[in-house]
Amino acid sequence: MAPGLATAANSPIGAAKTVEKLSGNGWAMDASGRWTYLSHDLQLALAKTPEDLNAWWSEGEGAWKQLVHPDDFERVAGEWRHCLRSGYPFDSEFRIRRRTGFGWVRSSGRSILDDSGDIVGWYGTSLDIDSDRKTVDALHDRELELSLLVDSVPSHLWRLTPEGEPSFFNKRMIDYLGRDVSDIQIPGLSRLDAMIEMAIHPEDAEEFGGALNQSLVTGESFFMRYRLRRHDGVYRWMSSRAESVRDHDGRIVQWYGLCHDVNDQVATEEALRRSEWHLQRLIDALPVHICSWTAAGELSYVSKRFLEEAGLSKASFSEFAKAALDLIHPDDVAQVRGQALQCIQKGDAFSMRYRRRRKDGTFRWTADRFEPLRGTNGTIVEWYGLSVDVDEEMRIQQSLRESEHSLHQLVETLPALIYCLAPDGRPIYRSQKLSEYLGFRIEEDAETGKSLHATLEAIIHPEDLPAVKRKYSQSLPTGKPYAMRHRMRRFDGEYRWMETRALAMYNAEGEIVQWNGVCLDIDDWLRAQEELRLAQRNLARASQAASLAELTASIAHEIGQPLAAMISSSDACQQWLNAEPPNMKRAQKALDRVVRSANTATDVVNRIRALFKHSDDSRRVNAFGNVVTEARDLMAEEALRRGVRINSRIDSDLPPLFFDHIQIQQVLVNLIRNAMEAMDAAPDRRLLQLRVRRDEDWVHTEITDNGPGVDNPDRIFEPFFTTKGQGMGMGLAICRSILESHGGRIWVEKNDPNGAKFVFSLPVKAEAARAS
Ligand code: ADP
Repeated sequence: MAPGLATAANSPIGAAKTVEKLSGNGWAMDASGRWTYLSHDLQLALAKTPEDLNAWWSEGEGAWKQLVHPDDFERVAGEWRHCLRSGYPFDSEFRIRRRTGFGWVRSSGRSILDDSGDIVGWYGTSLDIDSDRKTVDALHDRELELSLLVDSVPSHLWRLTPEGEPSFFNKRMIDYLGRDVSDIQIPGLSRLDAMIEMAIHPEDAEEFGGALNQSLVTGESFFMRYRLRRHDGVYRWMSSRAESVRDHDGRIVQWYGLCHDVNDQVATEEALRRSEWHLQRLIDALPVHICSWTAAGELSYVSKRFLEEAGLSKASFSEFAKAALDLIHPDDVAQVRGQALQCIQKGDAFSMRYRRRRKDGTFRWTADRFEPLRGTNGTIVEWYGLSVDVDEEMRIQQSLRESEHSLHQLVETLPALIYCLAPDGRPIYRSQKLSEYLGFRIEEDAETGKSLHATLEAIIHPEDLPAVKRKYSQSLPTGKPYAMRHRMRRFDGEYRWMETRALAMYNAEGEIVQWNGVCLDIDDWLRAQEELRLAQRNLARASQAASLAELTASIAHEIGQPLAAMISSSDACQQWLNAEPPNMKRAQKALDRVVRSANTATDVVNRIRALFKHSDDSRRVNAFGNVVTEARDLMAEEALRRGVRINSRIDSDLPPLFFDHIQIQQVLVNLIRNAMEAMDAAPDRRLLQLRVRRDEDWVHTEITDNGPGVDNPDRIFEPFFTTKGQGMGMGLAICRSILESHGGRIWVEKNDPNGAKFVFSLPVKAEAARAS
């Protein structure tokens, strides 16, 4: 209140009215605080007269309480109480209840003093500041909000002076750096340089400084990615952008910048870049050609190698397709083109092998494959093509095919029947010749193709089948080579003798993977052998007979002479004795000649005996078991041919015997052959048993057959006794002679239920044998 006003008006009311005229909202109170005046406008606004307000006075400060906003009351009442007591000017802003609701007012009151200085009253004004106050509040709220926004935005915000000096960091940036703008200082450096020094990665610092300076000079926007140091010393990638703010005259007044953390993004981008780089290197390094093109036929990618091969540096699809077609071998081009067009039209995958020309002009086999990539709705988005050099593989395949062909030819032209079995014996391959021989193929016969047993039953002679099966069952699980002679049925039903051998084929782990076998038809050879053997035997018999005849003739001759001399001398003696008178002298002489001739005949007989006498020079102490097994093995083939099974049982504790190896072998062979010949007539189950056992001082050998048995056991050991058409009847005689010369014996027994058992015994004591 200007002092002049108080002077111009003699009373508070007058003064208030004067104020009212000036500002329209005056009021006046007495010293105790009762209203004495309220301007008209104020009365209207409050909808109260001074009397209304004073009526509340009985409630003490109630009048104020009714008027002032509850949130402001305590403050305002306190101030007013203080002023009433002290007379100090009252100046306060608060909300007051008006007819239209609470509104902000600025109320000012001044005390009126009398001459003695006592307060006599108050006058004042009440200015409506509601709209100003609300504007300020709104601005304040807005600022608060902006400040919150600036601090909570998930980026770093900063401000620079036109010279580039940092002047503001938002909270996030402060938290990140661990320091506020005021902390950015290094003696001797500007704040910007200090900022670069302290927070920008050394590798990015120069570029950062340069770019920022460039913007500061030109006013152009600043943009850069750099590494910003975090409070813990870790650098993280930031993407930063700054723009200038200019005044009306276009002068730059501030720079506002923003940077946000793109570390993860950079790491991802880096990983992507690396993977792309690796992929690219891989594609370039791989010996394959890659290309892709869109559904519209635009080339989207061609690997470097492919372009080089096509003689292009870059190309459109049509150029590339043409160049690629030019490289195809003339013989393949039509087929490749036809198939490729068809695939592209139909959207099918293309896959083909053909020859393609290289830079050096040579053609190499290539495998091409291209496939469409379809979108979710099934339409083709892109085509991807791959081309691989398969020349080596094709050549290997070719040479394998050739070698397989030549091997096949070899197998088929070999003069043998070839077959292969699976490890379990299942037939898996038969040469053409074998199939033709048998009259059926594996695949044609479901049964025989299934198992070895079914096959064997179909082709092996029933008499040989058990032995063949037994042999396979020994070989298959053990890998022991299989070898057998047996009869096998030819396609025409004839059984022929075969020599079959099979060997196991192993893999690197030592497991049997296959059996490979050959069958040789030895039927003709066996027959020839048999015939040869018979011819030899006949020849031997003939020569034996011839030499026997010669021998007989010469013996007859040798003995005939002394006999003839004896006869004539006897006749002469008889004549001399019958003469009258008997001539005794002459008769005596004739008798002497008879004696001489008889002696001569005896000498001849002794000489012949000496000639046939077995010499014991070649006798040794031998293992008897060995000679028996040797004789058995010698006769094994003949036994097989005759369908005879030999069952031998030789005691293991036999003592060594003193004998002539050849002669005893001759005895054994003779007895075995006789037994087999005796069984020739037996229909089946021809069994020859060989048994050697010790019985105290003797070793007995029994050869038993199931033939017809011996009809003349007393005579068979006599020379020249035979019941066979071709027989000599000397075998058993020689056997007996040999055995007796060894101190042994031989005899025959009846076998139960049929057949013959020839037994011979040799003495254990060598001395006994020697003594004989
Ligand atoms: P060959 O065999 O030339 O007839 P052997 O002296 O060996 O001469 O045999 C004499 C005879 O003894 C035979 O002809 C045969 O009648 C009879 N014989 C020999 N071994 C047997 C046998 N195992 N079973 C039946 N008879 C036999």
